[in-house]
Amino acid sequence: MTAPAEPERVPPPRTQPPTPHARLAGPVVIQPLKRRFCAECHTGPLSLLTMEDAAPHCLDCADLGHLVYLPRGDWALTRRAREGSSLSAVVVRFHRRRGRYERQGILVEEAALARAEERCLADADARARRRARDAARRAARDERFTAAFAREILRLFPGCPPDQAAAVAAHASLRGSGRVGRSAAGRALSEAAVTAAVRAGVRHTETPYDALLMSGVRRAEARRRIEGPVEAVLRTWRSPEA
Ligand SMILES: [Zn+2]
Repeated sequence: MTAPAEPERVPPPRTQPPTPHARLAGPVVIQPLKRRFCAECHTGPLSLLTMEDAAPHCLDCADLGHLVYLPRGDWALTRRAREGSSLSAVVVRFHRRRGRYERQGILVEEAALARAEERCLADADARARRRARDAARRAARDERFTAAFAREILRLFPGCPPDQAAAVAAHASLRGSGRVGRSAAGRALSEAAVTAAVRAGVRHTETPYDALLMSGVRRAEARRRIEGPVEAVLRTWRSPEA
């Protein structure tokens, strides 16, 4: 008797989380058991992936790369973080012996997680976890590169709000994550790399993109719908007097 293998074509179940708040379950993200590589950018092996057209995609290619992982275990924190996050994903892993996908945690926006933690602060453990995560993220960030990236964003997009430029740059420069900012092109701060990072940020902050993904609209279709508004924002930001 052998245990069932991880299915080759993963039909990620739209896992129904066991709370009444989960009307919008959002995208499903898989912790793969096998070595998987992104069908789009070929990075890997991936620790987290999402299936699109039966092919694995890294979180960056799937526009989920800005989300942070919250393992299951703290029910109140999980619920608050998900409720406060305009885009969130359920993380599952295939359990060979039971032959089914099981929920491991969620991916949420970092700001939503921080707010949820604030509300759980009576809990000293929450404080400790937060300190540990803050330290890990500080260590992962290349501060000089982040500053240079932010300056380049503002040079190319003088109308971009500075705090948004800072957020995009910080995300782009997370170490070891294969994000655009760490790629060779991003390292060189090429206009294409900087523009791609800003465009990704605009999708999430200035358009209903996250809501579309949460409501089950496919990524390609969601991108098509917001393309016009995204380019309009970029045009505005390019001209300082606009
Ligand atoms: Zn990729």
